[in-house]
Amino acid sequence: MKKHVVIIGSGFGGLGSACLLAKSGYSVTVIEKNEACGGRASVFSKQGYTFDMGPSWYLMPDVFQQFFRLMGERVEDHLDLKKLSPSYRIFFKDIEKNGVSPLVVNLTSNIEKDILLFEQLEPGSGQQLRNYLASAAYQYTIAKDRFMYKNYDSIFDFFNRDTLIEGRKLSVFQNMDRYVRRYFHSDEIQKIMQYTLVFLGSSPYNTPALYNIMSHIDFNMGVFYPMGGIYKIIDALVTIAKKHGVTFRTNAPVAKILIENKKAIGVELENGERILADIVISNADIHHTETKLLPHSAREHSDKYWKKRVLAPSAFIMYLGINGRVPELTHHNLVFSRDWKKNFSEIFDDPKWPTDPSMYVSAPSVTDPTVAPPDKENLCVLVPMAPGLDYSDADLESYSEQILTTLEREMKIPDLRKRIELKQFFCSKDFASRYNSHQGTALGLAHTLMQTALFRPNNISKKVDNLYYVGADTNPGIGMPVCLISAELVWKRLMNDKSSGPIKELRQTK
Ligand SMILES: Cc1cc2nc3c(=O)[nH]c(=O)nc-3n(C[C@H](O)[C@H](O)[C@H](O)COP(=O)(O)OP(=O)(O)OC[C@H]3O[C@@H](n4cnc5c(N)ncnc54)[C@H](O)[C@@H]3O)c2cc1C
Repeated sequence: MKKHVVIIGSGFGGLGSACLLAKSGYSVTVIEKNEACGGRASVFSKQGYTFDMGPSWYLMPDVFQQFFRLMGERVEDHLDLKKLSPSYRIFFKDIEKNGVSPLVVNLTSNIEKDILLFEQLEPGSGQQLRNYLASAAYQYTIAKDRFMYKNYDSIFDFFNRDTLIEGRKLSVFQNMDRYVRRYFHSDEIQKIMQYTLVFLGSSPYNTPALYNIMSHIDFNMGVFYPMGGIYKIIDALVTIAKKHGVTFRTNAPVAKILIENKKAIGVELENGERILADIVISNADIHHTETKLLPHSAREHSDKYWKKRVLAPSAFIMYLGINGRVPELTHHNLVFSRDWKKNFSEIFDDPKWPTDPSMYVSAPSVTDPTVAPPDKENLCVLVPMAPGLDYSDADLESYSEQILTTLEREMKIPDLRKRIELKQFFCSKDFASRYNSHQGTALGLAHTLMQTALFRPNNISKKVDNLYYVGADTNPGIGMPVCLISAELVWKRLMNDKSSGPIKELRQTK
């Protein structure tokens, strides 16, 4: 008889592991608390608009391709990917260049064009960009072959002789801020090179420079978008999972993981129903799994441990339907705060509502007519903020006014507010209630050095046999493709595959 795997949660990690394990001969049931699959990559539609609620940047196409290949599928048979050009636009608050204020730049993932831009911002920096990206590309290859697709059991799995020598040579253990400053002097360029850490829920002051691989991902590989929206990826994963016999249960919150003789034997839903299993994999955030789904004796980490964790930011999000088009915007737009350090400090060190925030505006309707009614724009405005802050509905309303005023001024869209015909907020309390995220963090655990590789919560429980974890809180970490890698890692655990690179071929379970 096939072994039965129950997966709690249907985010990228949950769906990815469901696909891989079902194809390898397990019987798989995915149990999701919400009305639909996708986790943080949820979607909602209203008044003719379709809003991707979370991720919007399709990065690391090679990782998606690897995953689809393992499943015997081709990305292009499921997704109509467009490479964005420009990749994104940055508005620097209050910075004037050549009499133009604010400074607005387009990043293109076309090295020659990007070099021209860098030379305008800092003469001589073009060659430095080449050097920086060559090093990032090299490190990305090493990371993929030796670190990202590897399970960690001992300190020597990470800090071996090679890593230490190579790591010191490349200075990847210093923080990103210092690392970037060695290459570039212009404040604007330093911000451009550091902002990619936002994808990892981290700050340049607390993140090791080994994550400069993000610049390779962004500049060298480019930014893509699946037509129809990010949720098309979730649709594809669910379709593939079903093809291999995975059963899905939605609107089914798990209340506890059942344990007998220190072994996970299934789950109990909030309605009291029990679903027995040989293996349980939790794709829910690990803090939630440990503190709500496991008995105290089965928890691996203490309250003190969780208090000391660095959480990735939460976010204040506005989903906006705009009457008329907004030609000032491209698909991805970033507004950078003046005082970078203070903004990160208000998120990580001295939690408060950001006073001079950086923000992100996604406008998928620039590329995709299906996500907004004709002649209207679909905008998602996101302001990273500290997790765990308290607020009322009125606070959100007044903060939104502040943000919209800034956008009107910085992006030179004076009538933006007048043209809003749909406005919906999503903030840290919604992250906590919709996804069971700790203190409403949007992304999970930040990628500090002490929350990387061996130091990140492991994907196998030390206390409960047959209990595993998958998703952003375990290795390798945050991001859609990265969570697909975490699915490969959990597959490796179950199949006793100790290799350190991407899986070559799926084997059948015995
Ligand atoms: C606003 C935002 C923007 C982002 N932008 C990008 C981007 O542009 N590009 C990118 O690659 N990544 C981005 N990310 C990150 C990326 O979306 C996540 O890292 C990834 O989707 C997380 O997947 P996961 O496997 O950890 O599962 P999650 O998405 O965290 O899903 C976990 C699932 O478990 C379910 N669950 C929790 N508790 C229970 C329970 N008790 N019973 C049953 N089910 C339960 C939850 O409902 C949820 O569906 C973004 C994230 C956010 C929030």
